[in-house]
Amino acid sequence: MSRDTAVFSLIERELERQRNGIELIASENFTSQAVIDAMGSCLTNKYAEGYPGKRYYGGCEVVDEIEQLAIDRLCELFGAEYANVQPHSGAQANAAVFLACLKPGDKTLGFSLAHGGHLSHGHPANFSGKHFEAHFYGVEEATGMVDMDKVAEKAREVQPKMIICGASAYSRDWDYARFREIADEVGAILLADIAHPAGLIAAGLLNDPLPHCHIVTSTTHKTLRGPRGGIIMMGKDFDNPFGRVFKKSGKPFKMSRILNGAVFPGMQGGPLEHVIAAKAVAFGESLTPEWKEYGKQVIKNAQAMAQALVDKGYHIISGGTDNHSMLIDLSNKDVNGTQAEDALNAAHITLNKNMVPFDKKTAMNPSGIRIGTAAITTRGFTEADCVKTVEWIDRIIQDIENPAVVEAVRGEVHAFMAGFPLY
Ligand code: PLP
Repeated sequence: MSRDTAVFSLIERELERQRNGIELIASENFTSQAVIDAMGSCLTNKYAEGYPGKRYYGGCEVVDEIEQLAIDRLCELFGAEYANVQPHSGAQANAAVFLACLKPGDKTLGFSLAHGGHLSHGHPANFSGKHFEAHFYGVEEATGMVDMDKVAEKAREVQPKMIICGASAYSRDWDYARFREIADEVGAILLADIAHPAGLIAAGLLNDPLPHCHIVTSTTHKTLRGPRGGIIMMGKDFDNPFGRVFKKSGKPFKMSRILNGAVFPGMQGGPLEHVIAAKAVAFGESLTPEWKEYGKQVIKNAQAMAQALVDKGYHIISGGTDNHSMLIDLSNKDVNGTQAEDALNAAHITLNKNMVPFDKKTAMNPSGIRIGTAAITTRGFTEADCVKTVEWIDRIIQDIENPAVVEAVRGEVHAFMAGFPLY
């Protein structure tokens, strides 16, 4: 078969873009070549509806072993009793949990998208907001942080069936123990979505949600540095609280059975066994001693970058970061997030525009930008490289309309990145 030059020349161009640029998108990373090899393997050909040992297709003996390996490694990595590695994405992992735990119209309480939450936690444009009655907590304007007393107050007022903690743009750690106290007080299921900090939690560098939250979801492609995908975990399996029982014995279903049923056949058809193999490879990498060093450097880099930005007069929401990410309000620089994203992208420094809490602007033209250090740390950046990156960012933002600055920075960025080879 001849190779499709139209597609493969575009992939080559994308590889060059990734090699030459500084990647600051907080939700991205660079997987190992082994992860890419597993994803680009013959496993993409295999149908395997069902779960290891219980499939609706023949010829699943090899993929059964692969999926079981992914489950076992994930359980070991997070100290989980249960894991489902089939969700095709983080949003689908969350949708499966909603399907498992809620009836249409039930109330949920999640972190507001406008303050850094995710669409799949109840936004009206998403399944989670269309079919359920979503309520939200946010951060305090003065501190940029979640006030747990306010969350408790809101939970008492709303009486939600499910509380969701976790975010896409929140640079502080989460108090999962307090969230559980609140969930228990109002009789809610507690879901933690650790899509962003999962790799840092796996490294033992941030609070661990598994002992406190009933259910934990994540993506596998952000700080966890695996293929694009989703996962669901439980620290401990438990009898479902919805009264569902086996006909013959009258015994309650375990939550694991309900969650598995919500993923397949509830939300999805056949699992992507090539992606599950790549997840297994990534989890194996996260189980090595080097993973903790990677995680520590991600946080050191984020803190160095936040400090360098503060030193140059930038306003970081909450004043700093505990994890890999930060949200910057550019209002005092007289530049909006879209202008900054476009000009920096032209200099091959990639990040995304982002609403900031209490933003007076719109999602397409917000006041802020979001930065993360997971990808540059994989490239080999240390703190001094992050400070240098802030200097480039600042040069462009200070002179946002000047194409000569963009061009000069782009040249410097390309020369610099040649020192950090990729693939
Ligand atoms: N949950 C959180 C907190 C996220 O930040 C994201 C993605 O950015 C998702 C879920 C959704 O993941 P996916 O894009 O894989 O559906």
